Amino acid sequence: MKTVRLPCGETVPALGQGTWMMGEDAALKAQEIASLRAGLDHGLSLIDTAEMYGEGRTETLVGQAIAGRRDEVFLVSKVYPHNASVAGMRAACTASLKRLGTDRLDLYLLHWGGSVPLAETVGAFERLQRDGLIRHWGVSNLDPAAMRELWSLPGGPGVQTNQVLYNLTRRGIEWDLLPWQRERGIPTMAYSPIEQGRLVRHRGLAAFAGRHGMTPAQAGLAWLLARDDVVAIPKTSSAQRLAENLGALAQPLDAAALAELDALFAPPSRATPLEMI
Ligand code: NDP
Repeated sequence: MKTVRLPCGETVPALGQGTWMMGEDAALKAQEIASLRAGLDHGLSLIDTAEMYGEGRTETLVGQAIAGRRDEVFLVSKVYPHNASVAGMRAACTASLKRLGTDRLDLYLLHWGGSVPLAETVGAFERLQRDGLIRHWGVSNLDPAAMRELWSLPGGPGVQTNQVLYNLTRRGIEWDLLPWQRERGIPTMAYSPIEQGRLVRHRGLAAFAGRHGMTPAQAGLAWLLARDDVVAIPKTSSAQRLAENLGALAQPLDAAALAELDALFAPPSRATPLEMI
C-alpha cells in the first residue's frame, strides 16, 4: 500500500475511505458497513468522518463498522467550527468518541474556520491530545492566509494535514496552498476526489481512461495518488466500486499520462479563492 508520511512521523495509506452520506438511510446500513469493512480488509485503514455527517448518525455507523477492529483503523473525525473552543471541543470530542465506540481519535480536524480564534482552537486540540482523547490534530478548508496564521501561532506547526477539495476539476490549490504546505511537510487530504461521482461522467476523462485500460474513477484517483503528499478519501457504499477504486493503486500514471491529463484539465494559471463543497 502506498503511504503518506505525516509530520509526526507516522504513515497513513494514500487511499482512505470517506463516509459523508453514510448512516442516513437504514436500508443501506448493512451495505455501508460491509463496504467499510471490505476497505479495511484491503488496507484502506484511514476512515474519515465528522460530527456533522448525519448529525452524528454517520459516526454511529462508523463505530459499528469498526467494532472489534479499532486497532486496524486510523480514525479521523472533525469538529464543527462553533464547537472549536476549549469547552466546546471537549464536549464535541467526547460525544464523537461515544458514537464511534472508541476512547481516542487518531486525527481530529477543525472542519472549517469559524469565529473561534485559531489560537484557542489549537489550545483546545493540545488539551485533548494531552489527555489522550486525540492522538493528532489538523484542519480542513483553510485557505493560504488562514494556514499562514495557524503556522505563526504557538503550537500551530503541530498541524498534521489540511483536508481540502482537490480533484482533476478542482486544481486551484496547486497555485498556492499545495506548494506552501509541501514546503512545510504538511500533507494534503483530498476530499471529493472524484467530484462526488461527477468526474466519472466527464467524456474526456472517460476517453483517457479507455486508452489507458482503466475506469474514469481509477484515472481520477491515480492522478491524485501520483503525488507523494496527498491522501485521497473517496466514499463508496458499494463493495464493487470499492474494488474498482482500489484498482487505482495498481495503475500508477507515468509522466506522459499526467501530461495528457494536464491538457484535459488545465492546472491553475492564477490564484483563486479556495473552493469548498
Ligand atoms: P467522492 O468524490 O468521494 O464521491 C463519492 C460519490 O461517488 C458517491 O456518490 C459514490 O457513490 C460515488 N462513487 C464512488 N466510487 C465510485 C466509482 N468508482 N464510480 C462511480 N461512482 C463512484 O465525494 P465525497 O464528497 O463523498 O468526498 C469523499 C469524502 O471526503 C467524504 O465522504 C468525506 O469523508 C470527505 N469530505 C470532507 C469535506 C470537508 O469539508 N472536509 C467535504 C466533502 C467531503 P456510491 O457510494 O454509491 O459508490
